[in-house]
Amino acid sequence: MISRDEALNIILQETPLGNVEEKYILDSLSRVLSEDIYSKDNLPPFSKSAMDGYAIKSEETAEALREAPIEFNITGIIKAGDFFEGELQKGEAIRIMTGAPLPKGADAVIQFEKVKIEGISLFVYDKVKADRNVIKRGEEINSGDLALAKGTVIRPFEIGLLASLGYSKIPVYRTPTVALIITGDELINIEEELYPGKIRNSNEYTLISLLKNAGLKPISFGLVKDNKNLIREKIEEALKVSDIVVTSGGASKGDYDFVEDVLVELGADIKFNSVAIKPGKPLTFAVVKDKLFFSLPGNPLAAINTFQEFIIPACDKFMGKKRCTDILPVILKDDYNFKKGKRMYIYVNIQKVNGVYYGYRIGWQSSSGLASVTEANGVVIVPEEKSCVKSGEILNGYFIFS
Ligand code: AMP
Ligand code: MG
Repeated sequence: MISRDEALNIILQETPLGNVEEKYILDSLSRVLSEDIYSKDNLPPFSKSAMDGYAIKSEETAEALREAPIEFNITGIIKAGDFFEGELQKGEAIRIMTGAPLPKGADAVIQFEKVKIEGISLFVYDKVKADRNVIKRGEEINSGDLALAKGTVIRPFEIGLLASLGYSKIPVYRTPTVALIITGDELINIEEELYPGKIRNSNEYTLISLLKNAGLKPISFGLVKDNKNLIREKIEEALKVSDIVVTSGGASKGDYDFVEDVLVELGADIKFNSVAIKPGKPLTFAVVKDKLFFSLPGNPLAAINTFQEFIIPACDKFMGKKRCTDILPVILKDDYNFKKGKRMYIYVNIQKVNGVYYGYRIGWQSSSGLASVTEANGVVIVPEEKSCVKSGEILNGYFIFS
């Protein structure tokens, strides 16, 4: 049995960075850029008005007063999309709309609300500073500047910037294909009525949603009986079409737990087969035919906990993502006792009161069921050396699925 940190290190060491693929920007959301992106243009490409108003020479308003306004002659109009060929002369103003290019000779825009119009005369009552209501050429970014650095996670901000820079495709790291295989003679489909000895196959649905939650598309191979040959066939099939294979169940040392036997038959390099955590101790990790292989325990909360702790970080690394779980100091509101030697994950309901996070007990937490964790929105971590924690203690915690 190895520690959680050792297990995670081994997994991350074995996880390759995915290949690069070109993606249409709208299909690149949450992906990671694999190259620096430089601006091919100045943004904005011309100095433009930030307001609907009048383009003027600001210096001409230096003496403007409420009682002695400065008069300008309105000589034209520029709307967004137009380009004014001429040059603004002294004593002239040009009506200009938001987003329209500032005419040559003008250096400021005074908005409609601040002026008075009489026929073709414009009256300005206050001094207008140079650059007022003007967005200057290249103010946002200049041609040749670094727009987005390699490693950036693509969010709506980045998609908009890429669009304004004229990039419709970008290079990003591939997402891993994750295959799921669910084992267990006791399992029936969820549409079926229960009958003696059987339970419904919930893990397939939980694991698919965990992958979807991480932005990944799973390939599910569905249910397979506790039969060594059938399990082997499915695993071989899965290895051919995926980067990561995840099995559920059959992970322990029981008479009908065949996953590890199959791994041995397939010549897998089994890195470890148990981790000092609870829930989730019977986790096996192996490298088989250059693919990552995770055998998860069948107990539903153990499967979720190991998936979140180990498979998600591996997928993140494959996609070029840096891990960033926001660890919070959480004050426990209850006492808990357990055997020491394993890192405990206590699923709790975290409430923030006056800037302080409190962790409240949910119903009875067990690896084998999920009814109580539906009340949880977070997890607190108890270090391996502790055998109990008391109400009032501060532990590291984080929000989960929220
Ligand atoms: P195993 O890892 O096969 O020893 O299974 C451990 C426990 O998890 C057993 O009580 C199983 O019935 C339960 N279990 C295994 N697979 C699933 C599944 N797909 N959905 C729900 N529970 C499961
Ligand atoms: Mg089983």
